Amino acid sequence: MRRDLPGLTLAELTSELDSRQRALELLKWLGSLSALPKELPATVPGVSHRVWKTFRERHGVTQVQVKERSLSADGTTKYALDLEGATVETVRIPAKGRSTICISSQAGCTRKCVFCATKELGFTRQLKAEEMVAQYLTARFEAPPDAPARNVVFMGMGEPMDNLDEVLRAVEVLTQGPFPQLRAQSVTVSTSGVLPGMVRFLAESKASLALSLNATTDEVRAQVMPQNKTWPISALLGALHDAAKVNPDRDTFVEYVLFKDLNDTDADADRLVAMLRGLPARVNVIPYNPYPGTGLETPTEARVLAFHDRVVRQGQLCLVRWPRGREIAAACGQLVLAQDAQGFVPAPL
Ligand code: SAH
Repeated sequence: MRRDLPGLTLAELTSELDSRQRALELLKWLGSLSALPKELPATVPGVSHRVWKTFRERHGVTQVQVKERSLSADGTTKYALDLEGATVETVRIPAKGRSTICISSQAGCTRKCVFCATKELGFTRQLKAEEMVAQYLTARFEAPPDAPARNVVFMGMGEPMDNLDEVLRAVEVLTQGPFPQLRAQSVTVSTSGVLPGMVRFLAESKASLALSLNATTDEVRAQVMPQNKTWPISALLGALHDAAKVNPDRDTFVEYVLFKDLNDTDADADRLVAMLRGLPARVNVIPYNPYPGTGLETPTEARVLAFHDRVVRQGQLCLVRWPRGREIAAACGQLVLAQDAQGFVPAPL
């Protein structure tokens, strides 16, 4: 497969440019840009003409077209990007002092999570590592100077473990110096619980893992995430326990989308705490972002707070992730909703 910038690792650049110094200069040049160029320039500072000419014959630059930018009142920006015919969505979420970029790992998804709007798109194709890194760069270039893009979450469209080779390469490129040099802990790969991929990821990557647990019994989980029949909760948590034995310092995020009357009871809160005991896990409770036709509902704010409170009181780290950018359908699981052509309407505020 032909690799374009920005999908090459430092080791590959070193070998292609026949010098580590030139590879570092090239990455520095990439870091000095304010937009991805349409093609590689004729010269790059610090890289000799002869070597660069050969490199340009072999590699190009990933083509990204911003088709649409939607800005939410809270500063969240959703990008619809065209990657050579595949449309993906990338979200930039500003916070105090830093921004988080949420990127897609596939154009569409083959998993059938009942609550997630992405499945309505079907599956277009796998994304290449450079297309994941290019999403980050595109959003990064527009981050406000007081909130630089230091975090990346693979929580856009797609199941990262179903495209793991490319995801691992993207993580390596995002974390390599001198640019973008993100901290491995600041890059989080989120999975619906594809066990073989999860095990491999935990063994091979230093980046953070988020497991979308979303239920405390196999019966309820299988109702909303059909693949639970293949990889049940005990197997997923078993893999986290095994990984914690090898590396006890690595935190895992456990995502828990809260659905009214389905997984939001006191008994669920207690089971959640019990099943995570002994794991270095931080729970993120996400109130369900409604998506028409699922039959699922969002709990009241009081119920969300009561659930959170009950979990925290038992000593389990837990945060509520209130939706950001809901009016532009940029919140979790809503990334296709704004595409009116598909017949959906954005969920009400
Ligand atoms: N496939 C991966 C990454 C994409 S989903 C995964 O499942 O983890 C990213 C997060 O959004 C997951 O935790 C998922 O459970 C959550 N999510 C999906 N649809 C949602 C919705 N409608 N409301 C709230 N959270 C949702």
